Amino acid sequence: MRTPLVAGNWKMNTVPSTAAELAARIRHDSEDFNFADIAVFPPFVCIAAVRETLNGSNIEIGAQDMFWEPEGPYTGAISAGMIAESGCARVLIGHSERRTYFGETDEKVLKNTVSALSAGLKPVVCIGETLEQREAGITETILDTQIKEGIGAIKSIDAVTIAYEPVWAIGTGKTATPDQSDKAHRYIRGLIADRWGDDVSRNIRILYGGSVKPDNARTLWEREDIDGFLVGGASLKADSFRDIVNSVK
Ligand code: PEP
Repeated sequence: MRTPLVAGNWKMNTVPSTAAELAARIRHDSEDFNFADIAVFPPFVCIAAVRETLNGSNIEIGAQDMFWEPEGPYTGAISAGMIAESGCARVLIGHSERRTYFGETDEKVLKNTVSALSAGLKPVVCIGETLEQREAGITETILDTQIKEGIGAIKSIDAVTIAYEPVWAIGTGKTATPDQSDKAHRYIRGLIADRWGDDVSRNIRILYGGSVKPDNARTLWEREDIDGFLVGGASLKADSFRDIVNSVK
């Protein structure tokens, strides 16, 4: 039985003071939930304030991106070791906004995932097709490539979570239908089984992300292969985030 995970990606929103307030509200509303794992991904500069606010709670903190080198002359970059030592348990890798605006590729996803794992972080590796790719009927080919090239070379992916996020559904208000997401999740689980075997495929969590809101979370969650959500916009309000967490009960 996979424990659901609901994760809030705050993107480039909040400053340390407002991040601490949001974290405090989420803590107040959600920390007693014992049916799901909960994580928040604040901007780097807000991690310390959020860590202080969530200290002693079971809500995990994650970073939104990283760079695979451990240290050195990489101005502006943040390594996995820095993220781990600042109190994060998780890191997002290959989010579509990183792929679209910052040149993230499957090759970089692989380097980052390897580096995150060796620093003891639990990577949330994001994959998903664009609208053009879906309309061209190549969704499965894209997912296949992203899994093979992004993590295929990694021997053990026990600490990895996959987030299936169709790019056309992120921040657009368009959610994949339960049928569309279920089909993609089953396909991804099949890819994992082919590469790492049935046990790994049964145990790995595959989250759905893309305009998840309190009013659509439940019908998505009812699908067997959806193990929780990566939530952007709706995670910036503690009550809508709480309602989404509640939907996986
Ligand atoms: C995301 O940032 O991963 C995301 C899914 O955003 P939104 O929920 O706003 O579509």
